Amino acid sequence: MFCRNCGTKNQAVALFCKNCGHSMDTNNITAHNTPASTQNAQPNHKFPLLESVKRVFFYIGEIILSLIVSLLVLYAVGWVIVYFAKK
Ligand SMILES: [Zn+2]
Repeated sequence: MFCRNCGTKNQAVALFCKNCGHSMDTNNITAHNTPASTQNAQPNHKFPLLESVKRVFFYIGEIILSLIVSLLVLYAVGWVIVYFAKK
């Protein structure tokens, strides 16, 4: 590509002119960077209601699971206490 300031021919990948130091056209670099940032966008935003419903069910399941685990632990501890109290 040619420098827009002095007209000196530079390499296509050159960021600055080798003659005058003027910054070269960076449209190619920004065009390559734009799709990479859009690819990182989360596709979950398409169904915000479904995602919130899923999250609620996940929290309810987690609460029920923790309750079951704590009840099992209490039952096991009580069973152990009764077992050793009988002896
Ligand atoms: Zn130049």
